[in-house]
Amino acid sequence: MKFLNKIGSYAKETLQSAKYIGQGLAVTFDHMQRRPITVQYPYEKLIPSERFRGRIHFEFDKCISCEVCVRVCPINLPVVDWEFNKEMKKKELKHYSIDFGVCIFCANCVEYCPTNCLSVTEEYELATYDRHELNFDNVAMGRLPYKVTEDPMVTPIREFAYLPVGVTDGHEAKLTDQRAGSRPEEIAAQLHTTASKPE
Ligand code: SF4
Ligand code: SF4
Repeated sequence: MKFLNKIGSYAKETLQSAKYIGQGLAVTFDHMQRRPITVQYPYEKLIPSERFRGRIHFEFDKCISCEVCVRVCPINLPVVDWEFNKEMKKKELKHYSIDFGVCIFCANCVEYCPTNCLSVTEEYELATYDRHELNFDNVAMGRLPYKVTEDPMVTPIREFAYLPVGVTDGHEAKLTDQRAGSRPEEIAAQLHTTASKPE
């Protein structure tokens, strides 16, 4: 009787295991039907969306050392090092830096800068071995941004929202294909036409 009980419980466990393996395979087969959402990084890279907020670009010559960027930053992050030039009677910028290891990329500083010397770029590859290297000075921030679409070693892939009508896989769309929906400038033109029509 004890032996039969053992056989029964073994058979039950075997069936249970087979059920779990079947469930796992069902998930695998289900995913085989779905469109791919990954790209073969770093040979393929997604083109960042229009409003992507990446590494901040800084133009030294435009900065007036007003420190508005520091005041609007939630963590007072930008370091604006200036001296008052008595002869010219104005502030003279010596050094500017932002630590991207601490920055939350909210772009408040970019939004409020009165001279537009800050701008967000589409650069997102900021990984370093030492986090102190993320503290960018005005020279590092003045470097022109890396663009996925201009790298000959990389195949740029469009995100789902920017694909043409009927295409669900970024690998199938050419860069020249018109995306679904209207572009912002087309919407602006339509609104302008509607507004200028006499009632
Ligand atoms: S807000 Fe703009 S101009 Fe003023 S200190 Fe910051 S970067 Fe310079
Ligand atoms: S992006 Fe935001 S967190 Fe980063 S420096 Fe500018 S205001 Fe501060």
